[in-house]
Amino acid sequence: MTRPANTQYDLVIVGAGIVGLATAREFLIRYPRLRLLVVEKEQHIAAHQTGHNSGVIHSGIYYAPGSLKAKTCVEGSARMKQYCQEKGIKYELYGKLIVALDESELPRLDNLYKRGLANGVQGLEVVGPERIKEIEPYAAGIKAIWSPNTGVVDYKQVAAAYVKDIKDAGGEIALECRVESIKPGTPVTLQLAGSFEPFWQGEITTKYLVTCGGLHSDLLASMTTPDNNVQIIPFRGDYYLLKPEKRQMVKGMIYPVPDPRFPFLGVHFTRLISGEVKAGPNAVLAFAREGYGRRDINWRELGEVLTYPGFWKLAMKHWQMGAMEMYRDYVKAAYAKELQRYMPEITADDLLPGPSGVRAQALARDGKMVDDFLIRHSKNIVHVQNAPSPAATASLVIADSIVNEAQQDFELQQPATV
Ligand SMILES: Cc1cc2nc3c(=O)[nH]c(=O)nc-3n(C[C@H](O)[C@H](O)[C@H](O)COP(=O)(O)OP(=O)(O)OC[C@H]3O[C@@H](n4cnc5c(N)ncnc54)[C@H](O)[C@@H]3O)c2cc1C
Repeated sequence: MTRPANTQYDLVIVGAGIVGLATAREFLIRYPRLRLLVVEKEQHIAAHQTGHNSGVIHSGIYYAPGSLKAKTCVEGSARMKQYCQEKGIKYELYGKLIVALDESELPRLDNLYKRGLANGVQGLEVVGPERIKEIEPYAAGIKAIWSPNTGVVDYKQVAAAYVKDIKDAGGEIALECRVESIKPGTPVTLQLAGSFEPFWQGEITTKYLVTCGGLHSDLLASMTTPDNNVQIIPFRGDYYLLKPEKRQMVKGMIYPVPDPRFPFLGVHFTRLISGEVKAGPNAVLAFAREGYGRRDINWRELGEVLTYPGFWKLAMKHWQMGAMEMYRDYVKAAYAKELQRYMPEITADDLLPGPSGVRAQALARDGKMVDDFLIRHSKNIVHVQNAPSPAATASLVIADSIVNEAQQDFELQQPATV
């Protein structure tokens, strides 16, 4: 097949993860005449974070009231469930227990409960040891928050449904096609490298551009904004799977009370939509942006991390925590010991090696982790620079807010056509 004759687009979205796809879908719902292209460097959609996550439909408890995460997660969770119902995608509301193991965790548990209420999360309850045992007979804990509306879904299926919506609305998706450079302007010029059908190699132009590059989001942003002041640090998380005969020990989700300094740390148990039970993930520095294995090293990317001042500021401050996570990563018995704090009857023999995921964590030069979603827009370009968890849950609402903001600058009031 030859390259399409017309390489001028109204809108190009980079990245066929759940955020890019939700955004493309939303643009086409509002502006059905847009000539829209989604560009994805991998052979299939949802190849990175979207296809390697815990599959939880978060309810919105954790996030600082007023933050983008809080604003989008509660509504996003409701909309995700509704979308799944409409499309016949299986999801389950197994519910989540966030358990405090001892007195020292109670003030944080209490704050979390207040946060959940402030964010408008429905159905939350604080429960004692007896109720904990009723909900999760094998869980430890002296007190817990019970969130009955937390669910699970396979986000790969959700992403596939978004693709169908996009194609039904006339949007195009180019797989195995990498954006190599972006030249801002009116229009924006993209240099693409792709070697498979359809043959997209070369230059295309677009009136408007949105990048949703996940683990590469900083690189895409710095193609148009050289003074981009955050860098993505990839954190690998390994999961174990409970042996099939032990799966019944976990009814839903059992989570720790998060440490506010490291909201994404803390192994947990999740019953997946497939019926499997995942334990984990931990979080260690990945030696490549897409380094899913311990031995995956990309020296250039690792060099970029090690020469970034923000990384050393973070590492110096939290080296003990980092060292502990590394130790657990290599020593299964230590990982099992951490899990036993929440499920005392679990042993290392009950754990089978599971999949891994790599989180894209934006880090500022001063060593501070960017906690909230970070979306930057200027004139005809939007860069989604930080979309960590719960961005899969919140994807439909994140897409809404990207389109709301973009349409002010993009002058899309009248549907644009080439
Ligand atoms: C271990 C783990 C557990 C998680 N658990 C949950 C959970 O339970 N619930 C939840 O809501 N969220 C969870 N998350 C977070 C959630 O998965 C992410 O927030 C979400 O998937 C981000 O979607 P995205 O589209 O921004 O990124 P991605 O899914 O990473 O997609 C980005 C895409 O951009 C493409 N790309 C990058 N650069 C280029 C380029 N130059 N040219 C072309 N294409 C490019 C990549 O190939 C990739 O496909 C978890 C994440 C991880 C890693």
